[in-house]
Amino acid sequence: MSARFNPAAFRAFAAAIGQEWVMTGDDDRLAFADHFAADENKHLPSGALSPASAEEVREIVRIANRYKVPLWPISRGKNFGYGGAAPVLKGAVVLDLSRMKQIEVDRENGTVLVEPGVGFFDLYDYLQANKIPLWLSVPGNSWGSVAGNALDRGVGYTSYGDHASRICGLEVVLPDGDLVRTGMGAMQGSPTWNLYRNGFGPGWDAMFCQSNFGIVTKLGLWLMPEPEAVAGYDYEFDKPDDLGWAIDTIMPLRREGLIQQSPSIGNWLRSAAVMTTREQWTSDKGPLDEKVVTAIRERFKIGWWSVQIRFYGHLDVVEASMRVLDRAFDKQPILSKKPALWKRGDPPEGSPVTGVPVTFPLANANWHGGRGGHLGYSPVLPPRGDLAMDQFKRTYALYQKYGMDYHASFSMSERSLVNVNQLLYDKDDPGMMGRVDAMFRALVADAKSLNYGEYRTHIDYMDLVAGTYDFNDRALLRLNQRVKDALDPNGVVAPGKSGIWPKVMRS
Ligand SMILES: Cc1cc2nc3c(=O)[nH]c(=O)nc-3n(C[C@H](O)[C@H](O)[C@H](O)COP(=O)(O)OP(=O)(O)OC[C@H]3O[C@@H](n4cnc5c(N)ncnc54)[C@H](O)[C@@H]3O)c2cc1C
Repeated sequence: MSARFNPAAFRAFAAAIGQEWVMTGDDDRLAFADHFAADENKHLPSGALSPASAEEVREIVRIANRYKVPLWPISRGKNFGYGGAAPVLKGAVVLDLSRMKQIEVDRENGTVLVEPGVGFFDLYDYLQANKIPLWLSVPGNSWGSVAGNALDRGVGYTSYGDHASRICGLEVVLPDGDLVRTGMGAMQGSPTWNLYRNGFGPGWDAMFCQSNFGIVTKLGLWLMPEPEAVAGYDYEFDKPDDLGWAIDTIMPLRREGLIQQSPSIGNWLRSAAVMTTREQWTSDKGPLDEKVVTAIRERFKIGWWSVQIRFYGHLDVVEASMRVLDRAFDKQPILSKKPALWKRGDPPEGSPVTGVPVTFPLANANWHGGRGGHLGYSPVLPPRGDLAMDQFKRTYALYQKYGMDYHASFSMSERSLVNVNQLLYDKDDPGMMGRVDAMFRALVADAKSLNYGEYRTHIDYMDLVAGTYDFNDRALLRLNQRVKDALDPNGVVAPGKSGIWPKVMRS
């Protein structure tokens, strides 16, 4: 299925927002492709539009309904690993909101209201330039936008790292062009739009995350007041089997709220892949042998697994938390621990654990050389060490079977584990690319055999993953479809997103 280029619609779009913001050339379309995809053509849009305001978005949506043109909203379109800027439906028109860059900070209450085009670097620079003592939570690769990342339920590494849970109040253009504000924003001139989540009656913020029910034009987000101190340890664990007890040691502290960020235990390749390339270690194409793994670990002085744990807040409290952490790890066979301490007044640490945007993790796409990329598969597990060990062993075996290098982490939220499996590849290696899709499907099937669902996925696999949520013959998908059909009968907003297709496109 694909959408066809509609010249009349594009003429109407140009009349609404100006010809210079309507992009239909081959180079433009390629700019909005999924650059990590083996076949960039598969999700190529038929063009892109870049409006400057919510009013222009509304006008575009009205035109899209008139001509039945599907749109794919992006904030900055840096969703690498999940499809980049590209739409699920080939030929859809990318609605690039990156020109909308307003920032309104409530310094006293620690909130920000951003338009979709505001990147993590934009907001960081804004806070620094205006000496506002509020911290961001940023994703590992921070090229993207504050709004787009939160709407896709992205994650960061401070105690504000569950980004969707920090959303407070949205402004949304609905698929028919209506404009709505959620929560307290529903009251004209409310001073508590970004302070109190629920508003009155049903709450709708979550409905616009990972969905295609509207186009968000403003997003309220809570920011962390700059702490007096950040302290913690970088722990290294020697053996693959250490994963189980490490999770069972950290999880109780996470659940009771002593640890407020989501520590992520990752294997040795996480470091090696951003700082070196594979050919620096071996020319052997097969699975990396123990000699290579040992050499990597010695060079970076890391364990088989590594984890960073950090506490944020008043120095006294942070120091007391460190003592509890010390006691918890007291009798455990750790390989090493490196203390970390940042105090207000110190220069920024320059890392996501202190809320500073970075781009260096993008270098992992170069692990194999050639035109690199990666794809992530991230099922959610109950937070138990034995289950994590089983998960690790099964997925590790799949990496071996498909000849891919094991790159994974287990991120600990308060009551769950997210097992992020990265498949790093070289798009110019047809043999390798031939295995990626089969391996991804094997990972989905493996997780489904234990009824573990994925938290976020690539545009190629949205139907597959949505299909695994199968209670009562996929009742949730039916509910999503009913909402979609009610709000968007012409299917103009992001058809196919999260497996939700409008009636006009369902077979
Ligand atoms: C090396 C590497 C490391 C990464 N590390 C992380 C990480 O630690 N954490 C993490 O979360 N991600 C990570 N990512 C993934 C990705 O880069 C980020 O999530 C990035 O912030 C997403 O891009 P964006 O913010 O521009 O969102 P976009 O690409 O603009 O949008 C993301 C999704 O939300 C939808 N959307 C966007 N804006 C709107 C809107 N206004 N209205 C309705 N729907 C909208 C889009 O359709 C899209 O599906 C990583 C990627 C790489 C390559």
